[in-house]
Amino acid sequence: MSTTEVVVAGGGPTGLVLAAELHLAGAQVVVVERRADQTVDGSRAGGLHARTLEVLDQRGVGDRFVAAGQTHPILGYGGTALSLADQPTRHPHLLALWQGEIERILADWVLGDLGVPILRSCEVVGLAQDAGGVDVELSDGTTRRVAYLVGCDGGRSTVRKAAGIAFPGLDASTSWMIAQVDLDEPALGLRPEGGGIGPVDRVAGGSPYGVVLKEPEVRLAGQPPSLEELRAALRDAYGTDFGARQPRWISRFTDASRQAATYRQGRVLVAGDAAHVHPPQGGQGLNVGVQDAVNLGWKLALVAAGTAPESLLDSYHAERHPVGARVLQNTMAQVALATGDERHRALRESVHELLALDEPRRRVAAMVSGLDVRYDLGGEHPLVGRRMPDLDLETAAGPTTALALLHDARPLLLDLGGVSGLDLGPWSDRVRLVVATTPGPWDLPVVGAVPPPAAVLVRPDGHVAWVPGAGEPPLQQALTTWFGPPA
Ligand SMILES: Cc1cc2nc3c(=O)[nH]c(=O)nc-3n(C[C@H](O)[C@H](O)[C@H](O)COP(=O)(O)OP(=O)(O)OC[C@H]3O[C@@H](n4cnc5c(N)ncnc54)[C@H](O)[C@@H]3O)c2cc1C
Repeated sequence: MSTTEVVVAGGGPTGLVLAAELHLAGAQVVVVERRADQTVDGSRAGGLHARTLEVLDQRGVGDRFVAAGQTHPILGYGGTALSLADQPTRHPHLLALWQGEIERILADWVLGDLGVPILRSCEVVGLAQDAGGVDVELSDGTTRRVAYLVGCDGGRSTVRKAAGIAFPGLDASTSWMIAQVDLDEPALGLRPEGGGIGPVDRVAGGSPYGVVLKEPEVRLAGQPPSLEELRAALRDAYGTDFGARQPRWISRFTDASRQAATYRQGRVLVAGDAAHVHPPQGGQGLNVGVQDAVNLGWKLALVAAGTAPESLLDSYHAERHPVGARVLQNTMAQVALATGDERHRALRESVHELLALDEPRRRVAAMVSGLDVRYDLGGEHPLVGRRMPDLDLETAAGPTTALALLHDARPLLLDLGGVSGLDLGPWSDRVRLVVATTPGPWDLPVVGAVPPPAAVLVRPDGHVAWVPGAGEPPLQQALTTWFGPPA
């Protein structure tokens, strides 16, 4: 039996966004999720970066997250605060919002509004793939024959292991205790060697508090500490345990850093934590997973429908693996910068001095917030491969913005009035053509001002695939590469 169905293993942030992207692009998708509901244990991710807010704007749901969180115009990098205020984006800030809230809003959108089906209290326990599909073995004893399986099932991914995808990298060198617990008037704020104490409810303040403490010896993440161990660690760090009591949740995390050797093995793919794990410094994990999902969804939908060749899926690894590798690199660097001995303190001071300069600060802030990503798509114009800026546009239907034209997750050809005879021909049912004018400015993170293009082809993930001009391929070639040959 031939099938076009895609199973997404794991309904965390990555799996939910991937399911939405597949659904919007017309694929038949089912999420299989171990948890009985969307409750998140502990705090985990604490915020959304600028690029994630942009990709959520692309689907018309960014406002829901902004309304629930608090914006902060700075982010931390290895002990240095970096201003985001001059990043050319509608979101020059970090949005503070706990993962539990992020997942609740995502689930309302994806499972509620879009109606994507989910099998809860159900796990993927094994798989077997051949040239025609994947047999997905579920914990209820059934097997589902599907066209593709994507493992969004977290750092210990069953899918990754069952597909035989290697996960090379570094074991933990440092571990931290993390807890939510009642405390009497604790010393609030970050500690120079990393970690610190802050209220879980950032607006109301007070107990329970979130506590993160570096441990003197590395312990494995799978062994949660006891309340007594937490009290002892507080006494070591602060000279008092602040009367720690009523733990809501105690856990530990490490700086283990690993990345899948390949993001695709035949008809099985991995995304999010299933593809990369790293220390949480800089708060990038959830964000990078969401952006993996936005890169993969439209490609997999086109391939599953038979509209584009399977080779399109190779661009997922080619584009996202280097981004993940860079996150591993910068999080390892941040752990090193936060190390407490004299030599690391000297290194931290030197980096601090460099990051006080505008150019390095802007670059590092754009990297951590995901705004600097450029996929190598060929072409000479600096826009190609970078994210489309969310420009104000005038169209025949009235004013709009570039990202608002991507709400339906279809590719977009923007004719900015400078090219005669732009014609989508046989791609006109796959790609939306909009004639518009814009006052600009075409100002890109890290790059600065770029020459305004006469037209721009934007992929559903918001990255520019083509602009006209010398050194650029013909439009038809770009359309074939990204959205399949003419029917
Ligand atoms: C202490 C800590 C602090 C963090 N801070 C930040 C931060 O500030 N910012 C940030 O961006 N990130 C942060 N992260 C990382 C962030 O939590 C993860 O990167 C993010 O949750 C990854 O999302 P995911 O959907 O890829 O994986 P997960 O959130 O792990 O979701 C995987 C899902 O798959 C399900 N599942 C697992 N196995 C199976 C199976 N076999 N079958 C079916 N379902 C399965 C799980 O129940 C889960 O719902 C932090 C993490 C920790 C631990």
